[in-house]
Parts: sequence; C-alpha cells; structure tokens
Amino acid sequence: MGIRFDSVTVAYDGTVVLDDFDLTVEPGEVMALLGPSGSGKTTALRAVAGFVRPASGRIRLGGRDVTDLPPHRRGIGMVVQSYALFPHMRVEDNVAFGLRARRLPKDEVRERVSEALEMVGMAGHARRHPRELSGGQQQRVAIARALAIRPGVLLLDEPLSALDARLRSGMLGELARLHRELPDVSILYVTHDQHEALTLADRIAVMNRARLRACGTPRELYRAPADEFTASFVGSANLLPVTVGEHTVRFAGTELETGTADAAPGSRATLCVRPHLVGLGDGPNPLTGTLREIQWRGATHRLHVDVDGHRIMADLAELRRPPALGDPVTVHFAPEDAVLLPAGDRDD
Ligand code: ADP
Repeated sequence: MGIRFDSVTVAYDGTVVLDDFDLTVEPGEVMALLGPSGSGKTTALRAVAGFVRPASGRIRLGGRDVTDLPPHRRGIGMVVQSYALFPHMRVEDNVAFGLRARRLPKDEVRERVSEALEMVGMAGHARRHPRELSGGQQQRVAIARALAIRPGVLLLDEPLSALDARLRSGMLGELARLHRELPDVSILYVTHDQHEALTLADRIAVMNRARLRACGTPRELYRAPADEFTASFVGSANLLPVTVGEHTVRFAGTELETGTADAAPGSRATLCVRPHLVGLGDGPNPLTGTLREIQWRGATHRLHVDVDGHRIMADLAELRRPPALGDPVTVHFAPEDAVLLPAGDRDD
C-alpha cells in the first residue's frame, strides 16, 4: 500500500516542524527518512500513523485519504526505538494485542501470532516475558507485533538505535529479508544513520530543518547530490569552493575540469568529489598540497591533504609505502567524478 504526503505541514505551539512536505512512497517500496536530529523525521512518521494532526495538507494510504482517521483505523504497523512491549505480558500476548483489540477469532489470533513470531525467528520464545529477552529479541517481538495485523504499511522509527553495533548489523540483514518476504508492504524507515539508509532503502528522503531536501535512490544521491547538505549527509564529500569559468572551474589558483558545467561563468559554486574517487599521484585535475593526516581504516587509508588552506580527503586502497606527515603530496580526480553544486547552502 503506497503512502503519500500532500503538502503536509505540522506545527507545535506555532512552531513549524514539518513544512509543506511532499513525498510519495510506492507500494512495496522501502523509503528511508534520513536527516539530523530534530529535522522532522519522526513527526512525518507520526503524521502517517495518525498520532499528530497536520495543520494543513493530506495523508493518503493506498490512494485513500486517511487524514481524518484515528490511528487504529489506518492499517499500519509501527515499531519505535524503545520496543514499547507490555512488560507484564508474555511475548505471545504482546503479539496478539492488536489482533484481540480487533476482535479476531481465537484460532486466527493463534495462527497469526505464531506466523509473526516465526517470521522474526522468535517462535521458541512465545511464553517468555520481555524482561527475559535481550534488547535484540525484544525488538524482534515488537516487529512481530507490528506484522501480526498484516499491515499494508510498516513504520519504523529508529528501530535499531537501542541495539549495539553487532546486533544492529544483524538486524539490518533481518529487516532486508523480512521485506523480501513481504514484498507488498511499504516501509517508511526513520533514521539518522546513513549506513542504515544506504543498506536498506530503495529510496532515501533527506530532511533538514523541517523540509525535504532531496529524494532519490542511494546511488543517485551519492553520485549526483543536488546540494551541499545532501552531499555531506549521504556519504562523505570533498566540497571545494570554486569560481566557474568558460570550460573549467578555478580552485585555489588551479583550473579544474568537471563533468557538468551548467553554471554561469563568473559565479561561485561548490565542486563535490567523493574521497574514494580521489587518486594519489599525477593524473587528471592534479592538486598538490601537504599531507596533514593519515588514518588507517583497515581496508583503506584516508589521507587529509591541505591544498592552499582547504582540506582534501582521499580514500585509497591500503598503501604499501604511505607518505609521511608534512610531505608534499599530489592528488587527482577524473572530471566525470566531480559534480558542480550551488555554492554554500550546507547549513540551510
Ligand atoms: P527528528 O525525528 O528528525 O529528530 P522530530 O520530528 O522528532 O525530529 O522533531 C522535530 C522538531 O519538533 C524538534 O524541534 C522537536 O523538538 C519538535 N517536537 C517534536 N515533538 C514535539 C511535541 N510533542 N511538542 C513540541 N515540539 C515537538
């Protein structure tokens, strides 16, 4: 079931926290809402669930306008960061809760509870209480509870952020598998973690300061971000201040070639180059500076090179003989790997 925000605005005490928000999640799609803390992600999710009422705009689920419907009539499953299981109830009763509230026959409740627990690998724990489970297991139960009502839409609000790093990566894989098993369920996934968004989402909606900044596939946002904020929030980026020339751009006194050049000559712009697309030594668009920092990251080295007061990051496959701090170093990048962005809107 698809989700559609139509110019949705939400305000708390006169402060707008979601501003004229438009977004469509296709049926069966996983859409991540990615943005810094306070950017309005949870508010957008809660507007779909029906827990906050838009000041203006409409919410549609599967083409139906649900803006005026209460939460329990929207057919939505929701999982939040803190599990929110009922502590005095056994796992099976937690999962059955929404089904009993809907007055489903006993047999069907039993069947759906075991199906949902099976799906998250918790069938063997049906008789336990939440306190007898680890954090990861509790979150599986919360997911089973959301799935038991067979929702058309699943809302996940930072579902992995209470888990430690190892569990998190396991659960990411589990969520991806679940989605393959439920190909018709649309998922709206709130996170401030770009790794989760890049791993799980078909598309990512990047939010900042109550507004949608960009929306696209992980690859689109990574290869061709529309602005500095998106470039720096999805992956890491070198953002070089440049002046646009006729066929090249000028950075720190050097002419550089870029793939795109639809900016007016003489204007200021930002050149975005991903660190892993920067090479060491001579090549196209060479820039020479001083090595300021070198970090070993297992499979790669990250070099920080100071070019005329600007830091350029280069991620390189592990170097056998890394240069020493203070050495002069030349880096380069291919014109087609450099994207020209509007100047200076990183903090908008
Ligand atoms: P995010 O999920 O991106 O961290 P939220 O949607 O939770 O952002 O919050 C957006 C803004 O709305 C924040 O400034 C937050 O303080 C404010 N906010 C959220 N919920 C309420 C509320 N119930 N009352 C007043 N302000 C709120």
